[in-house]
Amino acid sequence: MLARAKRDATMLALKLQEDAGIDIVTEGEQSRQHFVHGFLENIEGIDFAHKVEMGIRKDRYKAMVPQVVAPLRLKGRVHADEARIARTHTARMLKFTLPGPMTIIDTIADQYYGDRVKMAFAFAELLNEEARALQADGVDVIQFDEPAFNVYMDEVNDWGIRALERAAEGLTCATAVHICYGYGIKANTDWKQTLGSEWRQYEEIFPAIAKSPIQQVAIECRNSHVPLELLGLLTGKVVQAGVIDVASDAVETAEDVAEVIDAVAKFVPKSNIVATTNCGMAPMHRYIAEAKLMALGAGARLARLKLG
Ligand code: ZN
Repeated sequence: MLARAKRDATMLALKLQEDAGIDIVTEGEQSRQHFVHGFLENIEGIDFAHKVEMGIRKDRYKAMVPQVVAPLRLKGRVHADEARIARTHTARMLKFTLPGPMTIIDTIADQYYGDRVKMAFAFAELLNEEARALQADGVDVIQFDEPAFNVYMDEVNDWGIRALERAAEGLTCATAVHICYGYGIKANTDWKQTLGSEWRQYEEIFPAIAKSPIQQVAIECRNSHVPLELLGLLTGKVVQAGVIDVASDAVETAEDVAEVIDAVAKFVPKSNIVATTNCGMAPMHRYIAEAKLMALGAGARLARLKLG
């Protein structure tokens, strides 16, 4: 029953995106409860039965997390069903999201490896295994979600990007990383209040990301305090520019969306811009999320007319 409901939800998510005029669609993460723990469910060495409380994102908030208790190994495919359902039911370009290694180790307790970096690379190997299989399923873009990149900037430069590259090793489809300030959790909203009017944290990590073989970077641009000029540091990258605010219920107009795309185009060649949402829409009411998807499609069309 649950499997069938997940399949139906995936097909519905695809149809809504297609009707909104979205060119690069996703399965909408309809089969996961959480963007990190969804990947962990089919991994040997993780104890889900005994969750513990852990400080997350440098102790910004607490969460109940599973524990790593033995060597990590994939029991089998993680996302085969939803990737194949999506590939069967859409002819559009298909993007698939996976959590990045640094974000995973920041969302799980370690009772086995005793070393953050070692555990991150263990997860990176498993991610790579699943990513290669997703590519074989016909996925066109694999995106690693790394909100933790915005918390541990020194570690990003030391090993975070290397771990990400390990996860993407050997892929011939497009590869992307999504970084963000976190949405949908009150602790994040409170933290952002302390950051002042200009959020320049990305300045510390963009130069290293620019040098990495990861091809695309997905970043929040709408109603964001990130100075768009920082996008200029991402030389040669495709920028998935967030043009939809996922922290507000106010539905954007096509003009709002086109305006953000226009602003981004001052720092990124327009052939390298893909319009997307600031972050995932999981915390939003469904009817608002759907209206925002329509705005994304309409705004991208308008921008194409204006910018050529
Ligand atoms: Zn995000």
